[in-house]
Amino acid sequence: MNCYIHVPFCRSKCAYCAFYSVPGAADELKKRYLERLIRELASCPETFDTVYIGGGTPTFLEEQDLERIFSVLRTAPGAEISMEANPETLTAEKAAMLANYVTRLSMGVQSFDEAKRRKLGRECSDEAIRRALEYSALFPHRNLDLMYAVPGDSMGGFAADLRLAVASGADHVSCYSLTPEEQTRFAGTVIDEDLSADLWKLAGDVLGERGILRYEVSNCARPGAECRHNESVWYGGLLRGFGPAAASYDGMKRYREVESVTGWLEGAPVEEDVLPPDARRREIFVTGLRTVAGWSRQAYLALPGALKSEWETFGRTLAEFPENLREVSPENLRLTEAGLLFWDSFAVELL
Ligand code: SF4
Repeated sequence: MNCYIHVPFCRSKCAYCAFYSVPGAADELKKRYLERLIRELASCPETFDTVYIGGGTPTFLEEQDLERIFSVLRTAPGAEISMEANPETLTAEKAAMLANYVTRLSMGVQSFDEAKRRKLGRECSDEAIRRALEYSALFPHRNLDLMYAVPGDSMGGFAADLRLAVASGADHVSCYSLTPEEQTRFAGTVIDEDLSADLWKLAGDVLGERGILRYEVSNCARPGAECRHNESVWYGGLLRGFGPAAASYDGMKRYREVESVTGWLEGAPVEEDVLPPDARRREIFVTGLRTVAGWSRQAYLALPGALKSEWETFGRTLAEFPENLREVSPENLRLTEAGLLFWDSFAVELL
């Protein structure tokens, strides 16, 4: 079982961000959030194989508050515990405490270029990044998030970001293209799609040459450093979510907590996403196609209720796409590197 904890607080709101978070929340609200979270975690009977603490900015919470979360979480031996951190809120003391629990620290750097970070509304100095990277050496696995296709981006500038990410010692790099979401300050920005595709390929090349290999559209890792939590969720693993806006999946239905800290504190009902079982399996199949490995027949047929006829239909549908975009065999269905760029078109066809 996988666990996701959403910490819905940030120091300030980044210009591109559409995640649910409250900037600069008062201590009283954080305290009430924490009390309820601790109660829910303490009363949950599950033992988790993976935990992902995201947000928001988990490191916006105080050291002792974070430690209370770990004190009530039930985790299996060898569990992967990932946590997102922002350089400006990671102190030496916090990092030292977190290193007792967290196996994988994911740092939202976005760019090593201060002017680009300013454009993104990321209030973070070069010095804060340098210090945070030094502290992050305490963790067995480290991810850095980078962003590309930001207006003004160039191949040379992004290549420098990628090289610096590798030089920092990270064994995992996630690269996300800027998406001008409606509710963000980038709404209406036109993305240069050709440049975006070139930058995506560049990420695979620069990181790949240095042993950090793409294993999902946006994620690259040294072999063995892949995020187990995300891999499990992509392939339909069970998920229990805690906190406002957190999603859960029980093998049949998806649930989502209300996107409001106060609503969540007042006990607003969870939203249920009910789909017929075959439509749910199609959704999971399409998500798994974002991985470089794609699906084995055995893995697909292990999904509850999965049918051989569904596997064959997926194979026939993929086979209608140009040969350089997909690999279709009786035992394996996957997209090639060129095909991953067209994942959206495959998704429309398969859903
Ligand atoms: S990108 Fe991260 S730090 Fe920035 S507002 Fe969104 S959740 Fe907060």
